[in-house]
Amino acid sequence: MQHFRSGFLESGPVRAFHSDHFVLPLPPGHSFPMSKYRLLREAAEATLPAVRVSEAPPASDGELALVHEPDWIAAVAEGTTTAAQQREIGFPWSERMAERARRSVGATIMAARTALMGAGGEGAKCREGVAANLAGGTHHAYPHKGSGYCVFNDVAVAARLMQAEWHRQHRALLRVIVIDLDVHQGNGTAAVFRDDATVFTLSLHGARNFPFRKEASDLDVELPDGCRDDSYLEALDRALAQAWARHTEGAPGLAFYLAGADPHENDRLGRLKLSAEGLAERDRRVLEALRLRRIPVAISMAGGYGRELGQTVAVHRRTLELACDSWRAWRAMEECAP
Ligand SMILES: [Zn+2]
Repeated sequence: MQHFRSGFLESGPVRAFHSDHFVLPLPPGHSFPMSKYRLLREAAEATLPAVRVSEAPPASDGELALVHEPDWIAAVAEGTTTAAQQREIGFPWSERMAERARRSVGATIMAARTALMGAGGEGAKCREGVAANLAGGTHHAYPHKGSGYCVFNDVAVAARLMQAEWHRQHRALLRVIVIDLDVHQGNGTAAVFRDDATVFTLSLHGARNFPFRKEASDLDVELPDGCRDDSYLEALDRALAQAWARHTEGAPGLAFYLAGADPHENDRLGRLKLSAEGLAERDRRVLEALRLRRIPVAISMAGGYGRELGQTVAVHRRTLELACDSWRAWRAMEECAP
């Protein structure tokens, strides 16, 4: 565990947003690891002094409507989702479920705004470059429905909102890249941005994993069962190189990084065999590639269903620790230190 005592620490730590007070009442034996979010926040608060955690505000109906159909927003808000819709999500409806889904989107919005525009929002002197949602990455949600533990699509909503805010402030297009390294394909996100040339979607995922009917991202990389560190990292390097090469009309101005812990070897759902060290190297490479291109990044933790929850929390915590390293390097480059 490293402690950072740089002069930046007091002036503006890495911002992270959580929504873990909204715990869903799930039936006994349910496979969703609801407690990991609280455990991650506690681990961050106890061991990462450079991270400042705040509770996220809920996303409004108007924000959600940038991506989601009004009928779906209303059904979740009013508790009129059908039994089939709830089954597809994997959670029974409750008021807390609805509130948590909104807050999780709100946390990614806050992380994106902080990374892109600075801790003070629009008009702040320095971009933070890096900020995080301690949950989020709900990439299976479509405009008209939820799926696979995802109710609303946090990254898709935040991407559209940041494009609107950026345009209002700068009268310029904000290009976005979504780097989805959760082990499951980002099918909802791919569907939302299928015909949108301003948002580039990259997904590295298990070929034989959920969702079984995949959507076409701008760049999909399918990995075989049992894939290990070296071949994963090679595939990642190739994919990132291709993604940059395909930005012929201008580099992205904002990235979303879904740093799923579910490619880990002890994940119950993942089918891949990455070590904790391999996942840390993955995070390092992504964050460095973004920093070198001066692309601010909002990180969502995304999936992670370890046979031992402590291992999943440790992978997510390490992502945050590497985010701190990257933030410090970013701030030094921006020359906006106190
Ligand atoms: Zn996943």
